[in-house]
Amino acid sequence: MQKGKVKLGQLDLEGALIARDRVGIQDFVLLDAHNSETAFLDNLKKRFTEDLIYTYIGTLLISVNPYKELDIYTKKQMDLYMGVNFFELPPHIYALADNVYHTMLSEANNHFILISGESGAGKTEASKKILQYYAVSCPSSTLLDTVRDRMLMSNPVLEAFGNAKTMKNDNSSRFGKYMDIQFDCQGDAVGGHILSYLLEKSRVVHQNHGERNFHIFYQLVEGGEEDLLRHLGLEKDTKRYSYLVQGECSNVSSINDKNDWKTVKNALSVVDFDANDIEVLSPFTVDHAIYARDALAKAIYGRAFTWLVNRINESLENKWEPVQFFNNKIICDLVEEKHRGIISVLDEECMRPGDATDLTFLEKLEEKMGNHPHFVTHKLADKKTRKSLERGDFRLLHYAGEVTYCVVGFIDKNNDLLYKNIKDVMCLSKNPIVQQCFPVTEGDSRRRPETVATQFKNSLLRLTEILTAKEAWYVRCLKSNDNKQPGKFDEVLVRHQVKYLGLMEHLRVRRAGFAYRRRYEVFLKRYKALCPATWPHWRGVPADGVEKLVQHLGYQPDEYKMGRTKIFIRYARTLFATEDAFEIC
Ligand code: ATP
Ligand code: MG
Repeated sequence: MQKGKVKLGQLDLEGALIARDRVGIQDFVLLDAHNSETAFLDNLKKRFTEDLIYTYIGTLLISVNPYKELDIYTKKQMDLYMGVNFFELPPHIYALADNVYHTMLSEANNHFILISGESGAGKTEASKKILQYYAVSCPSSTLLDTVRDRMLMSNPVLEAFGNAKTMKNDNSSRFGKYMDIQFDCQGDAVGGHILSYLLEKSRVVHQNHGERNFHIFYQLVEGGEEDLLRHLGLEKDTKRYSYLVQGECSNVSSINDKNDWKTVKNALSVVDFDANDIEVLSPFTVDHAIYARDALAKAIYGRAFTWLVNRINESLENKWEPVQFFNNKIICDLVEEKHRGIISVLDEECMRPGDATDLTFLEKLEEKMGNHPHFVTHKLADKKTRKSLERGDFRLLHYAGEVTYCVVGFIDKNNDLLYKNIKDVMCLSKNPIVQQCFPVTEGDSRRRPETVATQFKNSLLRLTEILTAKEAWYVRCLKSNDNKQPGKFDEVLVRHQVKYLGLMEHLRVRRAGFAYRRRYEVFLKRYKALCPATWPHWRGVPADGVEKLVQHLGYQPDEYKMGRTKIFIRYARTLFATEDAFEIC
């Protein structure tokens, strides 16, 4: 018996080692060869091959797009992750969502999750998973269910109007999205707000080969009820509309426009749109735009989209306020500094009457930023670099890597001009939504409208204001291959993304820089009961109180460092031991 037990133990250990080898390491912070990009990729690939698409770097979550449905988003999985310590279970988007939620509640402060990655990497899917997790895991009541349903349903609506098939992604988001969910101190979701950024309006009038217009057009034409189509004067045939067939791919195998129309229609009613709203939203883009100028079509669609977002926001409304801003990055200044940055130079060229062209814009850039260490053009480059640049190019050395921009079309695209007489006509419209999109006061305005670049810059400034006031969490999405092929791991492609997303640097910072950090006030507030000197109140400076507290808890010098405003803790286990002690007490 005894022998058998020992043997079983040995087998278990052996089994565990084999399993660990097969599935790789779930937190890169624990990777032995932590400086090796190859070891990093090996680990990602090993896990991906086992359908383990999530891996941590400390609290940062890496997600590799599997391009197939995995059985890891069930209610059972959600239950598993609810209220469990971050590192106790295998990495998952639910673990991150849960940890953010509980940290927010315990620390009573604001948090944001930044999801990044290239087109098709899985950002939208990740954001939906997070939202679905909150919908299931947060406490529920009838009133709050309404808020929850509306938040969930805002997704299909915004996707219908803001997403389109591109060469890279059948459901590519053609706008940036920031979604705010507000929780009360009990953890109930009580409201929300959405900000949208730079919708790709030009898609309304032009699509490249292999790409489509926004989904909503095809959904309406394919799925719209006979009565509705007749009422709107539309025919049930996408081929009748030149704006819908330029890409020569109206039908996409992964998309069912007919069914999607039903979902969107239902979602619109949940998000509190009435039947009349649903009917305009729908038609005027296709209907009028075919006869109107492209500029008008773009303007109408852009404004209708903004109107749609505002309308959703009204249904989610609760005490939403933007907060303070700061920014200090050299590359940001190069792009957006007032009177001197690239956007200002572009705007100046656009406003210059007469002979401004894309090339005069480039010359102005060379004149103004010629000495900037992050800016280079064909003319300014050394011999070696020049080979990789065309005459109309400029290159910026961004943090994430070099990006080459071709100036052709910059002036045109930046000029978002809608001729005044056309605008006046729109202002006089009897259609209630068009009236809201083109208010009469605008018809009187003599001010020149903001250029596209300035609109974008201003919206990003507002986003920075919001994010600066919150604690950051990160999800980095990686694309596994360029062909949307299930289970295929293209090493070259993934290596490139690991590079430009700065994941190796992030790992180094995490390992060297103490991965877990808490503001002194927050740490003290939470754990003060664990030390007689800090309980019930610490009267001195918070940092001194924290020092007393961790000494009392027996933290070793290599386990933590005291920063300017925060304590930095090297190992998760130290924090967990403290948390366990807190729960017992
Ligand atoms: P874009 O920047 O173009 O909007 P994105 O990063 O938002 O791209 P998604 O639309 O989220 O990319 O993902 C593209 C496709 O990849 C999805 O439609 C889906 O087919 C697949 N995909 C992404 N994430 C997952 C996942 N976790 N599980 C299964 N499939 C996924
Ligand atoms: Mg997307």
